[in-house]
Amino acid sequence: MFFRLFTIIFLCAFFSTSVVAKDCAQYRAQYNCPTDKRFKLHLSFDDGVGSVTPQILDVLKREKIPATFFVLGNKVDCQPHRKACGNDYKRNPKSCQSLQLCQQRRQTLKRIKREGHLIGSHSYQHFHHSKLAPAELQQAIVRSKKILQPFFSTKPIPFRLPYGDGWYNQKEKPQVMKALKQHGFTHIGWEMSGYDWNKQNQQGTKILDNVMKQMCSGRNGTALLHDGVFENEHEGRIFTGKHLAEWIPVLRCVADFVPLSYFKKELKH
Ligand SMILES: [Zn+2]
Repeated sequence: MFFRLFTIIFLCAFFSTSVVAKDCAQYRAQYNCPTDKRFKLHLSFDDGVGSVTPQILDVLKREKIPATFFVLGNKVDCQPHRKACGNDYKRNPKSCQSLQLCQQRRQTLKRIKREGHLIGSHSYQHFHHSKLAPAELQQAIVRSKKILQPFFSTKPIPFRLPYGDGWYNQKEKPQVMKALKQHGFTHIGWEMSGYDWNKQNQQGTKILDNVMKQMCSGRNGTALLHDGVFENEHEGRIFTGKHLAEWIPVLRCVADFVPLSYFKKELKH
């Protein structure tokens, strides 16, 4: 009896692992991944805190994946909403509702930190920073620093420029990177992108396909995804939050998830 039970357990274990192995082999073939190589992958999320951030946090917690969130300062700066709402909810229901949403986002921001993820700045607003006047540039950086300060946990502090503007063109526009450094920030770019900001990718497995193809072409590093919207036209970005859980097992076929400090030792927190 015991022997029979043991055989059944053994066979189950054998078949379940072989099924997983077969699936991963199929994915490796599909994305032209080298058969003998595993990659190091870090997930980062821009433009939050958004409505899907809690959903993303649930997935990361369940899967024990450390991530970095580049937060827009104006998403968690509740003072302007508080001012607009005043003391009279009946007279200003719209402003008071936006205050409530802002306070919820702040709670989520606290949760991001509590659950061990790294928080960086995505500036105060989603500007093209290389096009800002010197005073505006300073203000955007300082304002985001002031709002997000309690949530930072490293020195230097990670910063990701909206559109990467000021980073990819730093040779022609050196003032942006210079200002970041001056305020204690270090810029974090990305090695892979899901291109999830593009509506055309917000269907099927296109976002996953983008990351897998770039990784399997031989890249280790940080993948850029989004957990928020900064304008109404980007509502579709909730797609990533909704589908992240399905993509994790496929990514795991070829990659180990690592914290940002794996690549940037100075960002250990
Ligand atoms: Zn952005």
